[in-house]
Amino acid sequence: MIADNLNKIRKTLPDTTRLIAVSKTKPVEDLKEAYDAGQRLFGENKAQEMRDKHAVLPEDIEWHFIGHLQTNKIKYIIPYVSMIHSIDSLELLQAVDKEAAKHNRVVDCLLQFHIATEETKFGLSMEEAEALLQSDAYRQMQHVRIVGVMGMATNTTDMDLVRSEFRHLKTIHTELKQRYFAHSDAFKEVSMGMSHDYPIAVEEGSTMVRVGSSIFGARQYGIKVND
Ligand SMILES: *Cc1c(COP(=O)(O)O)cnc(C)c1O
Repeated sequence: MIADNLNKIRKTLPDTTRLIAVSKTKPVEDLKEAYDAGQRLFGENKAQEMRDKHAVLPEDIEWHFIGHLQTNKIKYIIPYVSMIHSIDSLELLQAVDKEAAKHNRVVDCLLQFHIATEETKFGLSMEEAEALLQSDAYRQMQHVRIVGVMGMATNTTDMDLVRSEFRHLKTIHTELKQRYFAHSDAFKEVSMGMSHDYPIAVEEGSTMVRVGSSIFGARQYGIKVND
């Protein structure tokens, strides 16, 4: 089943969009099945859960942290994480930088933007992001590299709204690129699109879609959580 789902989704993605298999709450056996079907990028949203899965799965997996990250849990992911998609404050970025220094790493990070109409979603505004990027504290960081932006659209069946939110995130990326990352080839990622809306995200320029339930099946809890 998992292999079939993966193959179906991969067929719909252009070469320019990578598929992150969001395996949160799913058992290691499910991840192994996806791995055996060729999947190497996995997304998790809880630090300890990611640590435990990393410990028992093959080394060539790229682990993407996509959830709200508490500073006291950064240590569980820093030694091996490939990308943190959910930087939503200067303080969090500073804490990641500090922990990454201990491991002599430079960790790729995305700035998470609040693009949805719901109040509950985490993320920066453009003003907050610019304040972060203009700060002395950011300029001094040596162990993080900002490689793009991430966002979640409103959880709605109104696909015109979803499309406009994705388009907005793409615009944010373009503007930040011009103003702050004109000379950084690395600043190219736009992480957007989940199971129910990733085809629209791809049309609007997503470089990474984060797909969970369409690969692994519905998760146990009934309502959608965003942290
Ligand atoms: C859970 C989650 C996803 C995947 O959601 P699905 O609807 O299962 O595809 C993507 N992004 C984030 C940030 C998530 O927390």
